[in-house]
Amino acid sequence: MKALSIKNLTKTYANGNQALKGINIDVEPGDFCALLGPNGAGKTTAIGIISSLVNKTSGSVEIFGHSIDTELEAAKTHLGLVPQEINLNLWEGVANIVRTQAGYYGLPRKLADERTEKYLRELRLWDRRNDAARSLSGGMKRRLMIARALVHEPRLLILDEPTAGVDIEIRRSMWDYLQRINAEGTTIILTTHYLEEAESLCRHVAIIDGGEIIEDAPMSSVLRQLQREVFVLNIDGELREAPTLSGFETSLRDDGDLEVVTSKDRRLNDLFAELDRNDIRVVSLRNKANRLEELFMGLVENKPGPAE
Ligand code: ADP
Repeated sequence: MKALSIKNLTKTYANGNQALKGINIDVEPGDFCALLGPNGAGKTTAIGIISSLVNKTSGSVEIFGHSIDTELEAAKTHLGLVPQEINLNLWEGVANIVRTQAGYYGLPRKLADERTEKYLRELRLWDRRNDAARSLSGGMKRRLMIARALVHEPRLLILDEPTAGVDIEIRRSMWDYLQRINAEGTTIILTTHYLEEAESLCRHVAIIDGGEIIEDAPMSSVLRQLQREVFVLNIDGELREAPTLSGFETSLRDDGDLEVVTSKDRRLNDLFAELDRNDIRVVSLRNKANRLEELFMGLVENKPGPAE
């Protein structure tokens, strides 16, 4: 049984916009999957349909074997959703928000209280349990939405841009948390604009563009397709001009660092041998562009844009 199985899913909005043109996605239980795509690709529409907020035009969606057409309640109990927009009642207390959600899923009062405490503690909001949601920072509101989505302990958690606009420290602690619950068994699907986020968290990636799936593969095999990699080398001493290194493109950056382009058939050992030959000593080395970002640009570059 799949955690999520989407077959031939289409959506045409009332104004004729064809947002999904027959997509197929399978997500295995325990997977951590990225759903990527440019603005207008159809991600929010797909998530809206999975969470039954948007009506599909045709096709099927099953969550842990339960069809959203014939077993919606069962399907819903397996799904937690963290939407992109902050959709909290800002005047309501933090703990109340989570407890009320537990009520929607029919959890008995005692269990609802226990779970509320558990998830508010895990998301570091327990101290704020009696405060109104409006008093929370942006990052805390997002964490509160995660606590609310988890209170009925769904087997599949979908997060739409969970870390949009939150600072890097909070983003990393959210990543740690998501990795932990994934390791404990929760299947996770996220959309993100931070491709670094997808690259570091997700084992599987589906890329959607213009309402169609244009890539659906393990992250490792998607990254392997990359032909080029760019490194930035901090050099001991100063270079006047970019050295000529046999087999590598080089350029000198404004900050004095050396940029080197390698192709996937070259080894870094060859690069260092070339640097040695030129008497260039490297202090540190880093990847320039996010690799997934490069791939993503390559994949969507030649596709027609979505109909607006
Ligand atoms: P994404 O989440 O990838 O940015 P969306 O699912 O929001 O993409 O949008 C997919 C396409 O559907 C876009 O062309 C968008 O303009 C269109 N669309 C989204 N919502 C509506 C709507 N309520 N009515 C008409 N068209 C819509």
